[in-house]
Amino acid sequence: MHELTITTSWDDGDVHCERLADLLDRHGLAGTFYVSRVSPEAPRLPEAAIRRLSGRHEIGGHTLRHVRLDWVTGREARDEIEGSRAWLADVTGIPPTSFCYPWGKWTPRVVETARETGFTYGRTIEHLSMRPPGDRLLDGTTSQTLPQVYYLPRLLRLGDLRLLAAARTRETFLVEAARCAHDRGRPFHLWGHAWEVERFGQWDLLDRLFSELAARWRLRPVQNGALGTPSP
Ligand SMILES: [Zn+2]
Repeated sequence: MHELTITTSWDDGDVHCERLADLLDRHGLAGTFYVSRVSPEAPRLPEAAIRRLSGRHEIGGHTLRHVRLDWVTGREARDEIEGSRAWLADVTGIPPTSFCYPWGKWTPRVVETARETGFTYGRTIEHLSMRPPGDRLLDGTTSQTLPQVYYLPRLLRLGDLRLLAAARTRETFLVEAARCAHDRGRPFHLWGHAWEVERFGQWDLLDRLFSELAARWRLRPVQNGALGTPSP
């Protein structure tokens, strides 16, 4: 049985994250939860719950106010990035090393600020990312849990007919996206938002997806921050 490296990341740190962590734990998977102090779409997880979550999964920075870092001044970007690291270190006792750019927006200067702040891994919202990142602070993903229209050009460019054919359902698409990543020696990186899973009723879909992946591959779960680190 072939091995599939699998990593998952969940943005914003809303109140549905604990249910998501439970789901990951049931499947023996690893999660990285990118928590901002202000959660834009659903109430944020209380700090005590963020602390508990940090004992089970990785917590990463996602700014304080969930701002678009390409729209603010360099000074504001630094305050948001440094502030989020200090806040999470205070809440969890662990300074985070992984960072996710809100709305997927970054500039070269923002990336350097994240690096200077002490972050060693950065996640974008690039989709169907099938090459190793040139910079660990700019890693892409395999797929979001939800389909997005703006991902279509990349899907077409990739030109993988099995993946195109699998797009008829979300579940078959995600399994084929994992196969696509595996065949190219890449981890399967699934990302989303816990509030989105709740709002769009994706709990059963994820449960079935994780079972399906485990039936096809020997899964090697890693947190985002361990991506690129060889297994011992
Ligand atoms: Zn976000």
